[in-house]
Amino acid sequence: MIIKLKKKIKDREKKGLTDFLIKNDVNFQFVNLYNIDHVVTSAEWADKKVIENMFGGAILEIIDTRTEYQLSTRTYKRENTVIDIGRGIIFGTNKTVMIAGPCAIESEEQIFKTAQHLKKHNIKLFRAGAYKPRTSPYSFQGLEEEGLKILAKVRDKFDMSIITEVKDETHLDMVAEYADIIQIGTKSMYIFNLLRKCGKLSKPILLKRGFMATIKEFLQAADFIMSSGNPNVILCERGIRAFEPQTRFSLDICSAALLKEISHLPIVLDPSHAMGRAAQVPIVAQAAAALEVDGVMIETHPNPEEAKSDKEQAVSLAVFDNIMGKVRLVCSAVGRELI
Ligand code: PEP
Ligand code: MN
Repeated sequence: MIIKLKKKIKDREKKGLTDFLIKNDVNFQFVNLYNIDHVVTSAEWADKKVIENMFGGAILEIIDTRTEYQLSTRTYKRENTVIDIGRGIIFGTNKTVMIAGPCAIESEEQIFKTAQHLKKHNIKLFRAGAYKPRTSPYSFQGLEEEGLKILAKVRDKFDMSIITEVKDETHLDMVAEYADIIQIGTKSMYIFNLLRKCGKLSKPILLKRGFMATIKEFLQAADFIMSSGNPNVILCERGIRAFEPQTRFSLDICSAALLKEISHLPIVLDPSHAMGRAAQVPIVAQAAAALEVDGVMIETHPNPEEAKSDKEQAVSLAVFDNIMGKVRLVCSAVGRELI
């Protein structure tokens, strides 16, 4: 249950409501979203009438969601959440944002080469990781702050916004300083303290679905961020683990379609990590665009064979050109503008 409180609620009324919930053993938390104080209670507790009768004077609205994810649903917020990053980048409207760049920052040369090429397509949102959550401890783990500094140069030199990932809480403040959007990777979707800390920031968060997470768990993770005060969450479908080993993961397009109905949050699809093979990334990118999502994320590298991370799925800059051509056509066919 979500209780929206009136602006000028008295301390006495707030205490009355709090005491009542404690007395009834209800889990709840306060959060201010969109400039309105909310009390979000555990899903199973839904004695709306009682609350209305006792505290009606202090209450703007009670939303009885009856689900374990609440703030991320359209039951709570009917209209799309629109996230404006600046530089013309906007999520949650009729635009599809192309997000492109390499998996990892490897050198200034590699990053500048990529950015310069992407700029020809007027790509506005550059992606690359400085803190890479690698499965093997022996793989390249990222350039850390040195990498973030290269991204800062990209922002200035090429006038692009930056999305980069955070692995855990230890470097969140540092990443937040450099990023326009903070990415939480698939393996970090379950780090609840990280979700909470990202919820304390105002920077938009791109939350990738855990590759073993259900849609419910995915939205519960989004709720962790939102219930900590940050409503600017972008959902990213990047593939879930199925039984088939020949594709890296399976891009759950059905979930993307369903999420558009049940959640007001923008949705991005990531064909690169789902497919895991560069040859098929272009055609899956076309399919992603056809789903009328808010963004498509593609990993591209000036020299894919030498990429230090996710090289099998990195498309060359020439292949990226083809992807842009086709994705633009698909977007216009479904009535969306590719930006
Ligand atoms: C990435 O975007 O490079 C990445 C590591 O993604 P994921 O967390 O989806 O594997
Ligand atoms: Mn990657």
